[in-house]
Amino acid sequence: MIESSKFSSFAISIVQTLQDNNFEAYLVGGCIRDALTGINPKDFDIATNATPEQVRSLFKASRIIGKRFKLVHVFNRSELIEVATFRAGKIKNNSSDSLIKDNNGKILRDNTWGTIQQDCHRRDFTVNALYYCPISEKIQDFHAGLKHINKKILVSIGDPQGRFEEDPVRALRAVRFSSKLEFKIENKVKEAIYDKGHLLSDVSNARLFDEFCKIFLNGYAEKNFKKLDSFGLMQYLISSNHNHENFSKQVILEALINTDKRVKNNQSITPGFLMAALLWPVLMKTCSKNNELNIRKFFRSMDGILKDQHQLTAIPRKFQSYIKDIWVLQLKLESRLGKYPHKLVKHPRFRAAYDFLLIREAAADEKTDIGDWWTKFQKQNFNERELAIAKLRSQREKESEKKFGFLGELI
Ligand code: ATP
Ligand code: MG
Repeated sequence: MIESSKFSSFAISIVQTLQDNNFEAYLVGGCIRDALTGINPKDFDIATNATPEQVRSLFKASRIIGKRFKLVHVFNRSELIEVATFRAGKIKNNSSDSLIKDNNGKILRDNTWGTIQQDCHRRDFTVNALYYCPISEKIQDFHAGLKHINKKILVSIGDPQGRFEEDPVRALRAVRFSSKLEFKIENKVKEAIYDKGHLLSDVSNARLFDEFCKIFLNGYAEKNFKKLDSFGLMQYLISSNHNHENFSKQVILEALINTDKRVKNNQSITPGFLMAALLWPVLMKTCSKNNELNIRKFFRSMDGILKDQHQLTAIPRKFQSYIKDIWVLQLKLESRLGKYPHKLVKHPRFRAAYDFLLIREAAADEKTDIGDWWTKFQKQNFNERELAIAKLRSQREKESEKKFGFLGELI
């Protein structure tokens, strides 16, 4: 029923080593779910009854990570496999290393080891709680996950209201999995998304950045955006007011469609590019009035917009400068003054800025020919480029004569 060839042989060898040392060990979670739904799994998780220290001692190339959730990373040159000890997920009093919750019921720490049944019970959705032994080729299914895979439905393990209180990120995960797997979301889960989504405002910005990347850089960005928007969850991921204006939404959608295409074609993608696009409408709104751009305000607003966004989803520093480059280059791509276009095509971010310019144009009602101009410019030799710049200059002179000619006569 499951094709073992879909699994990493390195991951299988880890399971084998653990079992050879008399531990229980299984491949678990997303890789089993994906393999059963016809998707090639891309990362592999292992669950075992060996403690992190025991796992660590069996594999030379491994390290223990995490405090909230202690895990072991076992790696070779090209792969990193997460090995997690079965967790009980029960509150244990008088223990400094057990499951700890905050006042809202959010889990702060979960390091109480347990049995496979207990471990299964604390996973989020039934389809994510299948344990597969690649040696015996048997699946353990305690919560009807196989049935739900066949029915193509996402069902919570336990009452979703309480489960989302424990960890509000599960609401985002529900949407993400339903897009990727083309599964329906069970009604009870939908209700919990509406009821508990607001708790996302309390999740750390680092975790939300990770989730942001999974949501928008895995090939289902457009679908995820539309669903998250309909659940009212986009506000926890992007500090923009895209709801109000058609153009804003269009730029965002074009950028997401473009990202999905790039993923499909195995082209490079970066969260920086997408953030630059998703935050562009809010930058425009902040620094323009009656369709006139205030350049000074443009430069002054950039940091503030990034700061607001950083509070929601952390933006690693290298992406912050990337985003600002893309924004500033939009102005330069439009102005095309003097010798500047020659330099601009050599700018390390030119290609990304040009791609974004095309996205903006695709989203706009009024057609401009700036993107076209740059498409041609890139293919031209030096002399042709000089000619294109000169032509643009004379065209502009004529336009300003038309605009200001009568003024000249008056002065
Ligand atoms: P993908 O890798 O495609 O994002 P995944 O299901 O493998 O999906 P991971 O974040 O890799 O997701 O987690 C592995 C498994 O750990 C999940 O399948 C699930 O069983 C469990 N898990 C992960 N995050 C949570 C969570 N927030 N709450 C409960 N269980 C979780
Ligand atoms: Mg995974």
